[in-house]
Amino acid sequence: MANREPVPPEELARLRAKYSGDNVGVIHQPEFARVASRVIDPSGTRSAPFAGLTSLLSAPTRRIDWSAPDFAGLQVALLGVPMDLGVSNRNGSRFGPRALRTIERIGPYNPNLDCIPTVDLAVADVGDVPFRSRFSLETAHEDITRAVAAIVAAGVAPLSVGGDHSISLPILRAVAADGPVCLVHIDAHCDTGGAFDGERFHHGGPFRHAVLEGLIDPAHTIQIGIRGSSEYLWEFSVDSGMTVIHAEEIGGLGIPAVIETVRSLVGNRPVYLSYDIDSLDPAFAPGTGTPEIGGLTTREALELVRGFRGLNLVGGDLVEVAPQYDATTNTAHAGAQLLFEILSLMVFSPSIGARAG
Ligand code: MN
Ligand code: MN
Repeated sequence: MANREPVPPEELARLRAKYSGDNVGVIHQPEFARVASRVIDPSGTRSAPFAGLTSLLSAPTRRIDWSAPDFAGLQVALLGVPMDLGVSNRNGSRFGPRALRTIERIGPYNPNLDCIPTVDLAVADVGDVPFRSRFSLETAHEDITRAVAAIVAAGVAPLSVGGDHSISLPILRAVAADGPVCLVHIDAHCDTGGAFDGERFHHGGPFRHAVLEGLIDPAHTIQIGIRGSSEYLWEFSVDSGMTVIHAEEIGGLGIPAVIETVRSLVGNRPVYLSYDIDSLDPAFAPGTGTPEIGGLTTREALELVRGFRGLNLVGGDLVEVAPQYDATTNTAHAGAQLLFEILSLMVFSPSIGARAG
């Protein structure tokens, strides 16, 4: 019977000698063996992904005394920003940081970007922004700026988890205090709107104010994935000179072309990356406050973000995960994976760089 021919004995003997008996635990390929040596502890096990205290990307935690914060020795601080007082529709992204902390089995190895970011970088989950009031958007924004300014003053790059998208403005007030940065912004919405119900600093307008306050350079800002019925609110993006790529264009352009546009636009300038989970189609990320049909697939989003390797990142955020609309936890899962990819990019950022040694 032709389909039951035995594996040639010499080939079976070769495989048995190499992969069984005393060699059953050996990883032969040098690069994979190097990864294993860094993620498997000397006793031969890995920490169980479902056990232990939770943290963002299972990074080490550091308890911060916010009256005298100490970020010494860190290169990147993962910061929770559980605040959603700026939403225009469904609330709940205040639970975003907790939702991402519950996601297990993200990393630690990134085969696509060839790094182990929680090992390659001195990184810690530093907990959440300490808020004076759960009721005041204005003081919440002040508290965010103060916390991120302390991180930046220590020479550490902030990577924040929202929270609604209004948090990017107070973060940029700290990150770009010395001058404007480029912005790579992935979102269903441009978030360059004006006042709404008498409030300017809601989640639909942080990047208008970031330009007006001199925090981002609109000529070196790109917004990707934009779609939906809020288009009439986004004239500021075009008028200020931002590059806007709508979701409807992405299929025709292809992700490699979008990556090339980003890379040529920002070059080696300092860049802040802001990722709104609602850029993903609600099929992939229903757990968000203002979902828009017709968005990116997770595969497109990962290809896009991985294309930013080597950009001069100085900080980033992942916002708008609202777990109560996320029955499957897929949204938090996608959010945690994208956070992991952004952290991985930081390994290759000239402003941050891999840990010495
Ligand atoms: Mn947004
Ligand atoms: Mn959005």
